[in-house]
Amino acid sequence: MENKQSEYRICKRCIMDTSDPDIVFNENGVCNHCLEYDEKVDSIWKPGKKGREELEQIVNQIKEEQKNQEYDAVIGLSGGVDSSYLAYIAVKEFNLRLLAIHVDGGWNSELAVKNIENIVSKLGIDLYTEVIDWEEMRELQVSFLKSSVANQDVPQDHAFFAALYRKAIEHGLRHVLSGGNYATESIMPFEWAYNAMDLTHLKAIHKKFGSIKLKTYPTVNFYDYYFKFPYLKKMTVTRPLNYWPYNKQEAIETLEKEVGFRYYGGKHFESRFTKWQQLQFRPDKFGYDERRAYLSSLVLSNQMSRQEALDELENFEYPKEVRKEDAEYVQKKLNLSSEEFERILAKPPKTFRDYPSEYGLFQKKEKFKELMGNLGIKFKGK
Ligand SMILES: [Zn+2]
Repeated sequence: MENKQSEYRICKRCIMDTSDPDIVFNENGVCNHCLEYDEKVDSIWKPGKKGREELEQIVNQIKEEQKNQEYDAVIGLSGGVDSSYLAYIAVKEFNLRLLAIHVDGGWNSELAVKNIENIVSKLGIDLYTEVIDWEEMRELQVSFLKSSVANQDVPQDHAFFAALYRKAIEHGLRHVLSGGNYATESIMPFEWAYNAMDLTHLKAIHKKFGSIKLKTYPTVNFYDYYFKFPYLKKMTVTRPLNYWPYNKQEAIETLEKEVGFRYYGGKHFESRFTKWQQLQFRPDKFGYDERRAYLSSLVLSNQMSRQEALDELENFEYPKEVRKEDAEYVQKKLNLSSEEFERILAKPPKTFRDYPSEYGLFQKKEKFKELMGNLGIKFKGK
């Protein structure tokens, strides 16, 4: 493996390039993400008959355990393709009784709201919506912008999982279905998306840059997330799409036909903030385009050719007026003047390492898990 950070290189198989600072290439010009995919794919993604049987077994076990309860499982419904399609197969293929939890962080596009309404009404799913206190959310997001770290989705993502897990436990439900999947999300460079569940990091950034206390913003700490929920509360997180011949385009078509779904034009564009982050904040400040990772994942799982991925990246239309409109929407919603917004965005980029975090603790946990694994003790969850 050789690492040539100083000169531009792009993988010969996927479209990942040196905008990922940790990328390395083998002698054939194939990147570490591709090699990792080859190594892991068979143990994580089981799209054939065997996977279907395994999933049926898991579903039957969940149903048996929950037979005297109102629901079999909870599902976090963002309105995005993955969670929407998961809701669809969970009901239509497996007849699971779901409680859908939607966490409204204030950034839903109108289309996302409409899609969620359609999904729950057409599939007969009960929906609970947790609305995050906007003033706290706004403050936290401004703190993150001021911190200049790459992952500006942390405030939304942390609240999403914290509210989902807390609500599940409150309802006595311990089975969570997640739309996370290897077919469309196998690649995400570490430096581009630091762990949103790191509460120490979140709090440190807010303490440094924020001015109000977070009182109702939902949080989970390291202990809850990695030990209390999975072991004491015996919470299980199942990713059914990893047992499914999951194809993004087919999923969109099915959802359009069956539940009146309409696509957003990009992954995670159901949130107006995330769309802005993906198309403007990251390319402008950090010089990378996270769609490169999403498209590369689709290349590896044979959902598009390398050339199609390159074309999509290069020919993506983002007219100037829409670009301006998206930026203004974020600026006004965050209640910042345009000068203040520009000033914050112009600050030099930082990494999560510039602030306190649980990264060391997380690494220790992984080492501990590995050690236990070597002794034959298996851990579940993340
Ligand atoms: Zn590659």
